[in-house]
Formats: sequence, structure tokens, C-alpha cells
Amino acid sequence: MNENKRMNENKAMLGRGGARSEIARLVVTRGQISKAEIEAVLEFSHPTVINTVGALVADGVLRESGEYDSTGGRKAKVIAPNPAYRYFGGIDITRNHVTEVVVDWTGRAAAKRRRRQAFSPDARYISSVAESFFSFAADGGFARRKIAGIGVSLPGILSHDRKRIARSHALELRDFDLASFAGCFRGIDVDFENDANAAVQTEVSDLSGDIVYLSLSNTVGGGIASPRMIHLGDNRRAGEFGHMVLHPGGRRCYCGKKGCADAYLSALRLSEGASSLEDFFARLEAGDAPAKRVWGAYLDDLAIVVSNLRMAFDRTVVIGGYVGAHMEPHLHELKSRLKKLNLFDADSDYVRAGRCGRDASAIGAALCLMNRHLEEL
Ligand SMILES: [Zn+2]
Repeated sequence: MNENKRMNENKAMLGRGGARSEIARLVVTRGQISKAEIEAVLEFSHPTVINTVGALVADGVLRESGEYDSTGGRKAKVIAPNPAYRYFGGIDITRNHVTEVVVDWTGRAAAKRRRRQAFSPDARYISSVAESFFSFAADGGFARRKIAGIGVSLPGILSHDRKRIARSHALELRDFDLASFAGCFRGIDVDFENDANAAVQTEVSDLSGDIVYLSLSNTVGGGIASPRMIHLGDNRRAGEFGHMVLHPGGRRCYCGKKGCADAYLSALRLSEGASSLEDFFARLEAGDAPAKRVWGAYLDDLAIVVSNLRMAFDRTVVIGGYVGAHMEPHLHELKSRLKKLNLFDADSDYVRAGRCGRDASAIGAALCLMNRHLEEL
């Protein structure tokens, strides 16, 4: 295989598009911006920015939303994305739950819902997921005709063409064809993505720089991303941090090996002595001694993995997944451990909690579709 072609297949790349696409992407990323700033950031000529913004506003892609304060002269108009231009669905499937979101053209979730439904690899389950999504969206005011595309995230390794699940421990699947799934959303563009790679989309943008995403849910995974590029590896397995050995000969992992990071950092380690993960954190906040001991040991293990990721990638490490959703108030405890492990960094500000909590994979799956629409503007 041609070396360049191979390189491109190992990364999900978003190229630089034309002026319409680049300007719309910048406005969506910033939330709001002036035409002068667009000109300065993208280095397009003044007439190109004026004409393109004018056309994008006329087409309903962008809108003028007020004016910036001015110390004199003409006030600059605030350019923002038009939330109603297009809507995208996001569906995250796990072993026991389905999370559904509708993302608007600002890239934010306009509606979301998480419900319990056990996965089953049959036609009834698949069609019920589709029908349930459409009724949820309709309840939120988003009729089927308003949905421009739907992204589905799954806990498994997908084939290169993302039309099959090559392997999923969580769903107990091997070489599972997703064509019938796509067929259930009749007439709507459907795309599939691995759950961690989908979640990465909520954290990486032209403003964020490069990141490493560590997903701490009932299984542990992750992703490595630069703005407009997810690094997938030769077999779409890059970021499978859960199966790096943390304690040789230690706890048995569901993959069959002993001592994998997954066996120590899965959310299940925290919820096993409580009725749920939420219950565990409630106990921890109430000062429950057994919960504090479990949390202390968990953070010791987490600090080793985060420090190793920092050493390997020298990038911001984002803690996501179910545990990441509870991480913000506890970051200082993790950072104090990191200081002892990593002598290269003066502080531990390279680690932060994910922004979208439990909804990250569903929102990210919708953003994958939105990115394609931005490219094709
Ligand atoms: Zn393992």
C-alpha cells in the first residue's frame, strides 16, 4: 500500500476546506466572533471574509447576534452560529443503557436522555433503539425531518470502514455487521464510532491543542487526538489504555490477562461496594471511611496511568467517562499524587476533567456527523 494512503487510513483526518467551511468552523468553535477577528485568525482577505460571512448569514448557517461594545467608531457585529441551521442525533450504546442527544449547530446538546435498556444483538433491539430515538427527539421539538444525521457510538473496536464491529467485549460481539442498524434509521445518514473516539470529539477543537483522553467507565479506554485528527493506529486500537499492565500478576481483567489498568480503574471498582457510582461518590462526600480507602487506592493507580500517558505523549490528559463526570472536585487529590510521579512538569495542570460527563460519547458521535457537514458546506 502506498505509504501516504496508509498514513491517511490510520487517522481520521479533517482537512482544511474552502472559505465557507473554514469560517463556519471557526465561528462554531469560538461561539461568537467579529469579522475582523475572522480575518486575523484565518488570514483570508477582507473582501473574502465580508462576502463569505454575508452568504453564510443569508443561507442561515450563521447569524448576526448583536454588537460588540466600542470605544468609538462603528460597532463590530457579533457573528455566531445559527443553532437551528441543522440538528444531529447522537446515540451511545452500552451493555445496559442507551444515551440519546440532539446537538444543534452550535455543537451543544439541545436535548438529552439516558435510559436503561440491555443490549441485545437482534433486530428487535435495533429497531427499538431507532424508534425510541425518534420519539425522544420529537418530544424535544425535533421532528425527524429536522435531523440531518445520526452518530452512534459503541463500546468496541470498529472495522476500518466503520460498517462492522470487529470486536466488543462489553457487548460480547465479534465481526458484527452494522448494516441492519443503519437501515432502521430510514432515509437518515447514520455513522458509527468507537465510544472513546466519539467522546474525544467533545474535547478537541482548533482551540484545545492536542489531547489524550482517558475514558473511565465500566470499561477503560481512550483516544489520542489533534485538532481535526484522531490517531487510530494500524488496527483502530490506539488508546486502548485499559489493557496496559499496571500491576503484573494482579487482578484479573475481563480480557483474560492479569493486572490490566482496566481491572483497577474501571468505574465498577468504585461501585462494587455501593449501590451505584453515584452512591459511592455520595458516601465519599459524606466522609465514609471505607469509601475513602477505596478512593485513595483508586487515585494511586490512576495517578500512575495519567503520569505514564503524560510521559508518553507530552499532551493534556483529559479524564472522561463515568468517573470523569465526578472528577472535578477531586482533581487536586490526583494532582498532588502526580507531582510525586512526574518530575518533568513543574505543576500538574496538564490534567483536567472532561466537559460533557456521561453524555460525552453520545454528543461526540453527533459531532462526528456535524464535522462532516461543516467540511461539505
Ligand atoms: Zn485487559
